[in-house]
Amino acid sequence: MTSTDDLKLPIYLDYQSTTPTDPRVLKAMLPYFFDKPGNPHSQTHSYGREAQDAVEAARAQIAAIIGSDAREVIFTSGATESNNLALKGAAQFYGNEKRRIITTTTEHKCVIESCRNLGSNGYDIVFLPVEKSGLIDLNRLAAEITNDTLLVSVMAAHNEIGVIQQIASIGDLCRRNGVLFHTDSAQAVGKIPINVNTMNIDLMSISGHKMYGPKGIGALYVRHRPRVRLNAQIDGGGQERSLRSGTLPTPLCVGLGAACQIASDELVQEAQRIGDLRDCLYEGIAERLPDVTVNGDLNHRLPGNLNLSFADLDCETIMSALPDIAISSGSACTSNSIEPSYVIRALGLSEEIARSSFRFGIGRFTTKAEIDYVIERLTDEVVSLRARGTTHRTVAR
Ligand SMILES: *Cc1c(COP(=O)(O)O)cnc(C)c1O
Repeated sequence: MTSTDDLKLPIYLDYQSTTPTDPRVLKAMLPYFFDKPGNPHSQTHSYGREAQDAVEAARAQIAAIIGSDAREVIFTSGATESNNLALKGAAQFYGNEKRRIITTTTEHKCVIESCRNLGSNGYDIVFLPVEKSGLIDLNRLAAEITNDTLLVSVMAAHNEIGVIQQIASIGDLCRRNGVLFHTDSAQAVGKIPINVNTMNIDLMSISGHKMYGPKGIGALYVRHRPRVRLNAQIDGGGQERSLRSGTLPTPLCVGLGAACQIASDELVQEAQRIGDLRDCLYEGIAERLPDVTVNGDLNHRLPGNLNLSFADLDCETIMSALPDIAISSGSACTSNSIEPSYVIRALGLSEEIARSSFRFGIGRFTTKAEIDYVIERLTDEVVSLRARGTTHRTVAR
C-alpha cells in the first residue's frame, strides 16, 4: 500500500461539485470584509469609492478571461441565478416575437427546470437528445431551428461527464440563423479557453465556486453588440444596469475576479498537469480491472473529469466501501435521490450502467501521490467486492 502519511484523507476528488477557494483568492478577499467595508453603490465617501473600484477591477478581470468588454459582465449569486436570468429574462423580453427555446436533455437541473417553467407558461421548449458520446449532433440542432426560435442553450463543458460541446460551431449556426446563443459555462471558464466573440456567444453563465473562487458569486455575460435584452428577475435599486438589483458583495466579487486572473495566468500548464493525472488514473484502473466503461467522449473532455461505470457494481456499493475517497455519483444535485443519473440515461446507456456510474473530479490541488493511492485503493476494493459477489444494490438487498 502507498504510504498515507502525507495524504489528507478523505482524498478530495469532487472538483466538479465544487472547488476549494484558492488561498490567493481568499487573501485578495479578506480586506473587503473589515478594513474596506464600503458599499460599492455609495459614492459619497472614499469607502464606497474604494469598494466600487475593487468591484470594477474584478469585473475587468472576468471580462478579460472571456474576451468581452467589462460592461457586458453582470454579477449574480452563481450559475443557477445566471441561467435563470438568461433564459427567463430573454424569453420574457422577446416572448411576443419568438417563443421557441432549444436546449439539451443533459443540461444542469437549473437550465432544465427554468425551461420547464417557461414551457408551462406557453413557450415551445425542445429538449434535444445527445449522442452516445454526450455531444450534440449539429445537423439535428439545425433541423430544430425554426423562424419562431428565440434561443439555443447548450452547456459548454459537462459537470457530470466532462464532455465539451462544439461551442464555436453552435455559436456560428445560431448567429447565421439570427438565434440567441446561451451557454452554461460554469465548468468551462478557467478550465478551457472560452472567447465570447470568436465563439459567437450572446449569453454565458459563470460560477465562482467551480473555478477556485468563493461560493455564492457568479456572473452572466450579456452581449452588447448586437445588443441582447433581458427582463430582470430581481427588481430593486437598479444595480447592475437594472438587470440584477441588490448590493454587490464586494469580497465575493473581488474573489471571482482574482480567481479569473489566476485561471487565465495558469490555464495552459494547469490543464496539462491535470489532464496527465486524469490519464494516469484511467490507465491505472483500466490496466488492473476488466469491464470498465468510460461514460462520455474521452477526447472532447475536461482535463479534470473521469466518469466510469463497473456494470456489475452499484456506485453506492463502491462509494460506501471507499470512505477515504471523496467521489460522487452523478451530479451533486441528484445524488441524494435513488434515481439513476438522467445524464447517463440520456447517453442511451442502460439503467444498470447509469446506477453504477461515478465521477472523479481532479483539480488544482490534486497530487500524483493522491492519484496513486486512489488507483490502488479502488482497484483492490473492486477486486474484493467482485470476489465476494457483492454486485448491484438491487441484487445485494
Ligand atoms: C455548479 C453548476 C451550476 C450551478 O452553479 P451555482 O453557482 O452553484 O449556482 C450550473 N451549471 C453547471 C454546469 C454547474 O456545474
